[in-house]
Amino acid sequence: MATWSEALEQLRRAWEDHAAGIPPKGGPRSPTFRAVSEIPSSRQDIVQLDLGAPDLSRLATLPGIQALVLIGEARTDTVELLGTLTSLRCLSLTTARRADLTPLRHLSHLQHLTLAGTHVTSLEPLTRLVSLESLGLADLAKVSSIAPLTALRRLRWLFIAGGMWSKYRLPTLAPLATLTNLECFVLISAHVQDGSLEPLTKLPRLHHVGLPNYFTITEFARLAACLPAAVGPFRSPWFFEPRKVDRFHYAACKKCHNYAPGMTIGTPSKRLCPHCHADRIAKHLAHWESLVSATRNPPTSSKAAT
Ligand SMILES: [Zn+2]
Repeated sequence: MATWSEALEQLRRAWEDHAAGIPPKGGPRSPTFRAVSEIPSSRQDIVQLDLGAPDLSRLATLPGIQALVLIGEARTDTVELLGTLTSLRCLSLTTARRADLTPLRHLSHLQHLTLAGTHVTSLEPLTRLVSLESLGLADLAKVSSIAPLTALRRLRWLFIAGGMWSKYRLPTLAPLATLTNLECFVLISAHVQDGSLEPLTKLPRLHHVGLPNYFTITEFARLAACLPAAVGPFRSPWFFEPRKVDRFHYAACKKCHNYAPGMTIGTPSKRLCPHCHADRIAKHLAHWESLVSATRNPPTSSKAAT
């Protein structure tokens, strides 16, 4: 069994793999305890506990618990209990409707938090979690701003996933520009309303970026030019590349049946087949190259104008 810090390392690597387009491996899972009394003392691995545990309040008596994954929806009384577990370094929880997250601010040693909850409306309770290095936010249908994250200056891994079933909108990624330690950023199922990736372009340590194909080709090209060493599908003119397939393959081009068409980077994206759309592909690749080099070598006339 991996210790909690090894498991945390694996999770962070999994986020980086996701950004790089590498499919998940799936590792061993911790057993879920149904009662606090089942938890052996001095555990070094992650304690996965069902919130239906009849003796949940006994969590406060466990000495020095460091890593906790809670199964079920946490109500305010549970969050209050968590607020007393100040030895926690690693926490995963899903919140129930109207749960108050304010008590989480006492967890100032927390290095990792995974927070899910379609009912969460504000990230303000996280601003005191200044030791956080990794943060996963999922199913945030109602969170309207990520501005509170600017307080988390040690953040190195950030994973934000919108709702599974509804279109999740974030006004802007601008607050991320202050997170200069950020190394990995993954955004899933979320539309950014100002459409700008500019906040990511000046993050010196950013090396893994996973983004939905909801930005324009110009934004992706600028990011590719500004982050020459970073990994992620935004690097190439393809969101996914066309590939040679068997003529009976489900994704085969309906006309020639020789290729699974690729999807061009940037919205609106096009499905192009190397055999049937060779000229459109050539045009697309040239357009991409011109956008990337325009960012790398801005025209001198604009320099003179400033
Ligand atoms: Zn074709």
